[in-house]
Amino acid sequence: MKLITHLKTIKRLGRLRKEENDDFRIYLRELPFSIKTIDQAVKTTSDAVSKRIDCTLCANCCRKLNPTLTVTDTRRLARHLGMTVNAFTARYLKKIQQDKKKLLIFQKRPCPFLKNNCCSIYEFRPHDCRSYPHLTRRGFVFRIRQAVEMVDVCPIVFNTYETLKNTLARRIRPAAFACFAIFSSHVLFSAMMG
Ligand code: SF4
Ligand code: SF4
Repeated sequence: MKLITHLKTIKRLGRLRKEENDDFRIYLRELPFSIKTIDQAVKTTSDAVSKRIDCTLCANCCRKLNPTLTVTDTRRLARHLGMTVNAFTARYLKKIQQDKKKLLIFQKRPCPFLKNNCCSIYEFRPHDCRSYPHLTRRGFVFRIRQAVEMVDVCPIVFNTYETLKNTLARRIRPAAFACFAIFSSHVLFSAMMG
């Protein structure tokens, strides 16, 4: 499958297909597959897509999103930069409230540590940055809304979601149960991504 990595195209298509993506989000939650099976399918697809996308040519997440920082992230970064935690926090971070939780994020976007399209603190970057785009975490069906919101920002999310739509909605739907064995063994995904 041909991947789309042009950021303006992804932004345009992500917005254009918002309704379709929302419909698929609901459909995916209703599929007769276990959470583990869906997670494995998403992981297989996402891994195959990630291998074909060069994040150093993109860095869109570092420009458009706000990673959250844990206390451990803050300590590690302050130490790396030779600053006290208080000085680091005052200079780079701000507190926000989200879903009744207090979170620490960078004060500015793009991220102040993005230099020449690369992370200048790569070895010390926050955990949230390390695990982005979070597609391989457990319980994808419970986080699909979050993924759909990232479709017009991240080429990995966009192409993973498009592949899932193509493989599941267009091929499996007519005979969902009959295809279960194929789906579970990932043969279909391997064939799509190969
Ligand atoms: S810390 Fe690094 S990886 Fe995280 S947003 Fe900033 S530049 Fe990107
Ligand atoms: S994770 Fe997504 S948005 Fe971030 S650099 Fe890689 S492809 Fe781009």
